[in-house]
Amino acid sequence: APSTKRSYSITLLPGDGIGPEVVSVAKDVLLLAGSLHGIKLDFQEKLLGGAALDATGVPLPDDTLSVAKQSDAVLLGAIGGYKWDKNEKHLKPETGLLQLREGLQVFANLRPAKVFPQLVDASTLKREVAEGVDLMVVRELTGGIYFGKPRGFGTNEHGDEIGFNTEIYAAHEVDRIARVAFNIARKRGGKLCSVDKANVLEASMFWRKRVLALAEEYSDVELSHMYVDNASMQLIRYPKQFDTIVTNNIFGDILSDEASMITGSIGMLPSASLGDSGPGLFEPIHGSAPDIAGQDKANPFATVLSAAMLLRYGLGEEKVADRIESAVLETLNKGFRTADIYSAGTKLVGCKQLGEEILKSVESHV
Ligand code: ATP
Ligand code: MG
Repeated sequence: APSTKRSYSITLLPGDGIGPEVVSVAKDVLLLAGSLHGIKLDFQEKLLGGAALDATGVPLPDDTLSVAKQSDAVLLGAIGGYKWDKNEKHLKPETGLLQLREGLQVFANLRPAKVFPQLVDASTLKREVAEGVDLMVVRELTGGIYFGKPRGFGTNEHGDEIGFNTEIYAAHEVDRIARVAFNIARKRGGKLCSVDKANVLEASMFWRKRVLALAEEYSDVELSHMYVDNASMQLIRYPKQFDTIVTNNIFGDILSDEASMITGSIGMLPSASLGDSGPGLFEPIHGSAPDIAGQDKANPFATVLSAAMLLRYGLGEEKVADRIESAVLETLNKGFRTADIYSAGTKLVGCKQLGEEILKSVESHV
């Protein structure tokens, strides 16, 4: 249902490298698309990552987190770069992003992998396998083996040195990520595949049991289960069989990267991280690309598509999201490409000009 609140505050975190270039394009697109649908957007720009380190000495200033928490959604560019690579852990740009995710309590990471018909040859897979792929990986982001305790190094009973981690999922953690995934599957193709290793791991057996129990509430969604080794194979063999995938933190980490490579174009892929309440965090999956920063070469599509996810999953403004996604398709149809997705017969443009072309498509679309 369309939201009744038609005025929103958005925190913009341009970050480092190409971040400011791509966020600037996405901001203009949000403003135009929003105004065409009677939405008022109020932007607050804050520091994160290397830019914050240079200005304040910390990668996530208090003021950035508090403004982000009070806003309706957060749009991030990218963070990091060679300049800060040798910093100590607590002074790394990446630490700022981890703190932000924790501060916003975003436990669900959404990574769509869509093969655009115009870019099908960018896929690592054969055309006939890649064509029409449009799937979403929903990854649990704040639990599982990356956070479980005990963890560490030690010595076992034979005096051998060991390293160890623990996979733990509580009922509420599985239930809340499964609910997010069921709801997304419902809005998409109506199919949900839960990926686990329930033939070996107790944490996975528990995961499967909880997901299965919830399925009764979502009888309109077709639920299936798959072991992770099979899923990683099926993703390459026949990716079109998937609509929405839900999985734990570590499997999601791996499967979402695998899925992104099916599309072959890192500059096209958005992501969203959602919590129970409070603002979601929306960002392209690519990094700060310091090698091309400041040269007007960056592909802004991934950030523009992240802005569309912000509207769809963050604000419930589906129509405006549809309009932006259509404008992206139209801009691709007109042949405009940045260098990373350029091929013979298409029109090579820079980040700024591509932004102008997207705006034209947003404006003209009905
Ligand atoms: P991170 O570690 O921050 O995830 P990374 O260093 O692994 O990122 P990226 O920063 O994403 O990788 O860059 C990888 C390569 O892809 C670089 O050569 C970069 O120029 C290119 N690239 C990434 N994003 C874009 C983009 N939006 N437009 C054009 N090229 C891009
Ligand atoms: Mg990097």
